[in-house]
Amino acid sequence: MRVRFWGVRGSIPVPGADTARYGGNTSCVEVQLPGEAPCIFDAGTGARVLGRELLGRPERSVNLFFTHFHLDHLFGFPFFAPLFAPSFKVTVAAPGFTPEATRDRLGRYMNGVLHPLRIHDLPAPLEYEALRPGRPIQRGGYQVTATQLNHPGGACGYIIEGGGRKVAYLTDTSPLSRPGEALSGGQAPNSREAALIKLLRGADLVAVDTMFSEDEYLEKMTWGHGYPEYAATLCRAADVKKLALFHHSPDATDDELDRLADRWSGGYQGMRVMVAREGADVDFEG
Ligand SMILES: [Zn+2]
Ligand SMILES: [Zn+2]
Repeated sequence: MRVRFWGVRGSIPVPGADTARYGGNTSCVEVQLPGEAPCIFDAGTGARVLGRELLGRPERSVNLFFTHFHLDHLFGFPFFAPLFAPSFKVTVAAPGFTPEATRDRLGRYMNGVLHPLRIHDLPAPLEYEALRPGRPIQRGGYQVTATQLNHPGGACGYIIEGGGRKVAYLTDTSPLSRPGEALSGGQAPNSREAALIKLLRGADLVAVDTMFSEDEYLEKMTWGHGYPEYAATLCRAADVKKLALFHHSPDATDDELDRLADRWSGGYQGMRVMVAREGADVDFEG
């Protein structure tokens, strides 16, 4: 299994000299098994670059999963090249939404006003599929399970299994427990956190929303984002092998993210920790 981050930023794309190394594109993550259609999670502005690359690959179908429809996860959708290639089949799913509701949400953006095209103008065959949180679905060699997170208006994370690997994508989300009560003694303080730990158990890689520092989180607990110490505690409780800090603040410069990477370079209680960077494949071994 190959995992590549195409956009690692939260809230708004931030191109510029200060973000060139970690990347300024918003959320988009690709998971691919050899010879299979890729699974793509969110269509932030990173989806534009990914889409252009997909045109040059042999596979002609794409599975696109949305966590939610905040704009930073949607900006890149109308610029995703496979949507303009009639030879591509694009399957779209958003947990908790019926196929009609998913099309309606995307159509509110591609409506001829906020974007020049309307959703029904797209030339590629688009299919919308229902996906219920907690109910795994099979897509080729992938088993995909959505799970509800803690975000204003709702968002879902994903657990993806295939090819002997297990990875998870958890953005946008606040901790499921309050500071101080989180996972004391390895025990989850509530049933939602216990269920999430069970889903993550033994994962090779988990990308978690860590847009805030712990102090910022304490000031903005209702904003629906997390911080590295919580992500590390959560993933360690689930025996995750590698944590990727993800959904970086638009204000975080490359130098600040370097310092974050330095701080976590020793890992956490035996678990490896990385800072997600745009364009690079994840190394499962190191
Ligand atoms: Zn976001
Ligand atoms: Zn959001």
